[in-house]
Parts: sequence; structure tokens; C-alpha cells
Amino acid sequence: MLELKNIKKSYKTGDFIQHALKGVNLSFRKNEFVAILGPSGSGKTTLLNIIGGLDRYDSGDLIINQKSTKNFKDREWDSYRNNCIGFIFQSYNLINHMDIMANVEMGMTLSGISAKKRRKTAKEVLNKVGLKEHMHKRPNQLSGGQMQRVAIARALANNPDIILADEPTGALDSKTSVQIMDLIKEIAKDKLVIMVTHNPDLANLYANRVIEMKDGKIIRDSNPIDEKEKEEETYQIRKTSMNFFTALHLSLNNIRTKKGRTLLTAFASSIGIIGISLILSLSNGFDEQIDVFEKNTLSALPIMISKQSMNLDEETMAKMQEEMTDTEESYPNIDYVIPSETVEEKYVHNNVLTKDYVNYIDKMPKEDIVGINYIYTMGLNVLQKIDGNVKQISTTDVTFTTYPHSLDDREGVIEERFDMLAGRMPTSKEEIILEVDSKNQVSSDLLELLGFTTKENINFKEILNSTITLVLNKDYYQNLGNYYIPKQDLDSLYENKDNLILKVVGIVRLKDDYPSMAATPGLYYSNDLQNYLINMNKESDIVKAQKIADYNVMTGEKFDLTTKEGKDLKENILGYLGDDIEPYMIQIHPKDFNSKENIINYLDEYNKDKKEEDKIAYLDQANLMSSLSSNIMDAITIVLVAFSSISLIVSCIMIGIIMYISVLERTKEIGILRSLGARKKDITRVFNAETFIIGTASGLLGILVAWLLLFPTNSILLDLTNLENVAVMNPLHSLLLIVISVCLTLIGGWLPAKIASKKDPVIALRTE
Ligand code: ADP
Ligand code: MG
Repeated sequence: MLELKNIKKSYKTGDFIQHALKGVNLSFRKNEFVAILGPSGSGKTTLLNIIGGLDRYDSGDLIINQKSTKNFKDREWDSYRNNCIGFIFQSYNLINHMDIMANVEMGMTLSGISAKKRRKTAKEVLNKVGLKEHMHKRPNQLSGGQMQRVAIARALANNPDIILADEPTGALDSKTSVQIMDLIKEIAKDKLVIMVTHNPDLANLYANRVIEMKDGKIIRDSNPIDEKEKEEETYQIRKTSMNFFTALHLSLNNIRTKKGRTLLTAFASSIGIIGISLILSLSNGFDEQIDVFEKNTLSALPIMISKQSMNLDEETMAKMQEEMTDTEESYPNIDYVIPSETVEEKYVHNNVLTKDYVNYIDKMPKEDIVGINYIYTMGLNVLQKIDGNVKQISTTDVTFTTYPHSLDDREGVIEERFDMLAGRMPTSKEEIILEVDSKNQVSSDLLELLGFTTKENINFKEILNSTITLVLNKDYYQNLGNYYIPKQDLDSLYENKDNLILKVVGIVRLKDDYPSMAATPGLYYSNDLQNYLINMNKESDIVKAQKIADYNVMTGEKFDLTTKEGKDLKENILGYLGDDIEPYMIQIHPKDFNSKENIINYLDEYNKDKKEEDKIAYLDQANLMSSLSSNIMDAITIVLVAFSSISLIVSCIMIGIIMYISVLERTKEIGILRSLGARKKDITRVFNAETFIIGTASGLLGILVAWLLLFPTNSILLDLTNLENVAVMNPLHSLLLIVISVCLTLIGGWLPAKIASKKDPVIALRTE
């Protein structure tokens, strides 16, 4: 039972108000075929749209089941359209990207009927309209008459009580029109059919009630209802709801019709994802590389304990950092100067490497270290015959020290970390080895020490034939009363019988699995030679004399022992001469990363409960380097990710634009869906589903492309850095990026989806 009470409706365009319905009073029987006639613009469509709940009346009331619709909510209108009304339009209004079957099923889909039941019903109604064999065709593969049959099938599918047809034959030829009218007449048997038509002949032939309209008013009703005829009846209104999968399915279908564009969109918006993914893979890989580097390689760098050590414990580092970044008290506006500590006072720790400490180091667990060396500052008096002339060569600018010895009988650092390029390991104290750098280079100072002044390449054989003449202090210095000075006659010194003739017996190079910076090219002698020299010097007269006389052997001047400088000078000279005072430096070579930890714990153990000045500071170069490099990596990563994020935002905006275009393109579809009872929410869902698909696609595509790009990236990096497989993708990052991509596209598509849902269904249906 449907009743219109004084329904008024006007449209406002600019200042002009068009009164489309000027107070319509009408009642309909539950089962009749009503034809509405009237000239164009008389308000027929408006009336139909209001009856169908597609448009809202301004005033009056529409009574459905004795119930006023004045306070109907959007939801109720949607449900009413969905299961009480079937629309048939002049222009068919089928959704072109879906096949006939899906078009017919749409209303049922919206009301959440199961797929099986939908299929069955759709087949039945398609059979009824004679299109069973066409059900998998698309609308544009059918003739006009066939399309209108599909529309009729769709209107019937949800078994509505009311069929509203707006000039259903308006676009058809007369023969087809008759067929369609026959069909409508047939389905009208148990329903209320209200049909708008231009054609009075068709109206009179088929309808059992003809209503004529003019200027928004009813001017004739051939079969009005009298009061007592009004009966009670019920229209059952079920609620509609489209689930997300339906929306997804709908959007997938739509996307399928514009694959190229979707792919391009997805690709364009995946660029940010590609960028971020690559950067994360790289930084992830570099971090891993640094880790491996640290574990296997940097641990090859010795832990250094020298007399003067930069104190690089965490406390000092923090202090240093604070000082560098602290600008609070910089550039003060004051008229006085502030005394401060020197850099040395602040950060340099003087280590007193006592005999005790050396013993402590010697007792270190052997399994943790490959070798250890104690380096003393010894005056090595080196003579070399160059071009027939004997020359004294300074050893201060070159590395000329002991090679690390192992604490037990195991093979030492040399065998484990170096390639022997020529010759062999030394077996006596007179035999020394030469370490070259990763490019086989040796400094000219070092070559001069070996007697070479040439700029040409020098064959290994020649190196292995070279010798160095070492003069002992006792022969080198002459007594001039109360002090000693070096002898002047180098030729006779060179011939001295107690001289040590050092011979290069091996040439080594750091293995290529260690970083080239860990190489320390130089000449290396054995611990035995060092001990021998220390002992010889200890026994030599000059040191004894020196100790008593307190004269500087170099200059003959007396030390001023009343001052700190004088005492330091004496100390230094004694050290230089090779007394058995303290080693200048201790280098500990850890076996691997874990043993380095153990060694450091061992060293820390010594410092426990010691006074500040008795503590021994050490320098762990590997740790310093890797913490620096991973900090830098983190900073670079953050900057790069920030840059790439801009492209993510750009793609977010782009998605918004593209979705807006899609909304414009699909306006008609929005209208159709609304006429079939889709809620605003459902429309939002359809578009959200589309952005979801694009977002997922762009995320997946981005990850895929980034993954493919890893191969060339890694091969370029291999060329540049010799590091294999630097860029490694973290699956967690990838997953996160896909989620981000989906979220961003959803954000980008949110506004267009909202706009789509707000579209007036009547206007939407009018767009072409
Ligand atoms: P009919 O279907 O009988 O041809 P309509 O119901 O479509 O007539 O239109 C009735 C009047 O309302 C017409 O003058 C038309 O221009 C006007 N009208 C209909 N819809 C709108 C609208 N959305 N905005 C402005 N005017 C409208
Ligand atoms: Mg019309």
C-alpha cells in the first residue's frame, strides 16, 4: 500500500526555482499496472524517483504500509530501494564492466544473499526474460531490447513489490517495444508496476490505470482508489549491506577494464616504496657487513696499550661529544678569559706500564690471543752502505719494531694473518721480515733503510739479499770524560766485529680477507733481538755511566733534575737507549671477535678498584671504527628515507587525483548502485576497495622491483667495494612497506571515496 499526500518538490538552479511537483495526491493498489502520461518536464520522472526513494520530497508525505516516511533515515531508504523497489530506466543503466549475470545479481549481492542463491535466482529471472544463453555476455554485446530485458531481470531479481519503469521503451523500436511491454505486463501480474511513458497507445493497451500529469500536477486518473478500497498490507523491509569482499570484487572487475592505467598508477606510486626498500636493504646490508667486518676482520686490529693513550671509554667519549655539541655557553658576552684544561689533560691518560702490568698481560688466557708485542723505544743505530758510502739511517719515520710473538708454541700472528710472498719466517734474532701493503708498496724511507734509493720496482730476490747493519750502543758511543757522544767515523763503525747484520728472509702481506687499512707496512724483527738489545744496553757502560752522571749522552749537557722537564728528558733518553724500563707500547692481537671481548674484560679487570692514575687505558680501534661507521650509516639512512618519503607523499596525492577521476568516471555506476539500494557506506567501500587494490599492487610491485634492482645494485657494489651481497632485503621491512603503501593510498583515496558516497543518486544516474 503506497500513498502520496500532497507531495511537493522543487529544484533550485541558481536563483531560479523549478517547481517539479506541486502537491501530488495519489494512492496505489498493491497489484496494478499504472501508466503515467504527460508532456516532457511535467514531473513524471521526479514523481517516480520520489516513489522509489531515490529522491526526497520537500513537503507532504509518502506513506508506505501506513507508515510515514517523514522521519526515514538514509539506511531505511536504502533498504526500501533494495528490497521493495525494482527500477527500469529508459537508458537501461547497466554496469558495463560486469557481465549480465553479475548485473542481475547486484541487488541480491547488496542485500547479502548467498552466492549460490543469487546464481539460482539470477538464472531464473534471466530465463524468464529469455536471455539465459546470454548470461555471460557484457551489456555492450547486447541489443537495446536485450539490455532492457536485463534491466527487467535485475528489477525482478530481488522480488520487489513495486516496479518503477521510466519510459522503458523510449529508446526502442516499436516492434521491440511491444515485446518489452508484453514482458512488463507479464511480470506485473502480482506486483505494483508504475510506468512512465510518452506513448498513450501503449498506456491504454497495457495499463489498467492511466494517470496524466501536467506542470507537476495530476490532471487525470482513470481508476482512482476510493477510501474503502484502502487495504492493509505489509512490505517487508530487510536491511542491506555490502561486505568488503563484494566491494573488492566489484572494484576488481572495474579495474580489469583499465588494466594499463591501474598498472601505471600502481607503478608510479610504487616508486617511493622502491626507493625506501632499496635504501633499507642497503643500510640493512651494510649494517650486516659491518657486523661481519667487525667480527671477522676488524678484530684483526690489535688492542693497543701505549704510554700515552687517548682515553676513549664511554664516559670520556660522551664528555667529548657534549663539548662539541654544547653551544649554550659559546660566544658569551663577557670581558674575562677562562683558564681551561689542555686537550691532553682532558683526554690523554698516562699509562704506567709497570713490570707488574707486563706480567699481568703475559698471564692472559692464551686461547684468546694470536700474538702480542711489547714495543720499546730503542735507539737503533742503523748503518747502510749506499753507493759505496756508509750512511747512518734514521729509524724514526718507519715502522721498525718486533713482530708479535705468541705466548705459547702455537704459530703466531704472521702465519695466521699474512701471506708469505717470498722467503720464510725468521729462525734467528738476526733475521727480519718485510711487510708490504695491499698493493705491494713500501715507503722510500723504509727502502733506504734496506739500502735502496731507486725509484724502480725492486724484485723480491733483491730484497731478500739485502742486509741492515746494526751497531750496538757500546760501540756507537764514545766516552768524552763525563758524557758520551756518537762516534764520527762511520766507516770503521760499519766494520765493527760486534755489529749485528740483519737479513731480510721473508716478505709478507696481509691476507685479502682483512681490510687493507689493517696493514702496517714495515720491517719486523724478533722479540729475541729486542731482548738481546735491551740486555746488551743494560750491560753497556754508557748507561751505567749515564745513570750516575745524569748527563745527556746526545748533547753532553747535564740534566736539570730539579725540574719536571729535566726528569722527563732523562727518562726519555734512557728509554731511547734501551733500558729495561717500561715498554712504550703493548699490542694484543685477539683471535676473533669473541676473544677480543674476553681480552677487554681481562684488561678491565686489572683497572678495577685502582686509583685513577694507576689505571691502564687501552684503545680498541675496531670498536671505535665500527661504532663510528654504523652511526654514520644510520644517519645516512634516515636522510635518504626522509627523501624517499617525499615521493610517498606525492604518490598519496596522485592516488587521490586518480581516484577522483575514477569517481567522475563511475558516477553513473554510483547512481545505479544507489538505485539498487547501496548505502553511502557501500559506495565508500567500493572506492576504498579500489584504492586498497591499487595500494596493495603498488606495494607488491615496489617490493618486486626493488628486489630485482638488488641484483644490479649488488653487482655494482661488488665492483666498487669488493663486498658481496651488500643489499639484503628484510622481509619485515617489505611487509611494513606494503602496509604503508596500502595505508597511504587509502588516505589518498579517502576524500574521493567520501565525495562519491555523497553524490545525489538522481544526478548521478543522469550523467553519461
Ligand atoms: P519529466 O520526467 O516529466 O520529463 P522531470 O520530472 O524530469 O520531468 O522534470 C520536471 C521539472 O523539474 C523539469 O522542468 C526539469 O527541468 C526540472 N528538474 C528535474 N530534475 C532537476 C534537477 N535535478 N535540477 C533542476 N531541475 C530539475
Ligand atoms: Mg523523465
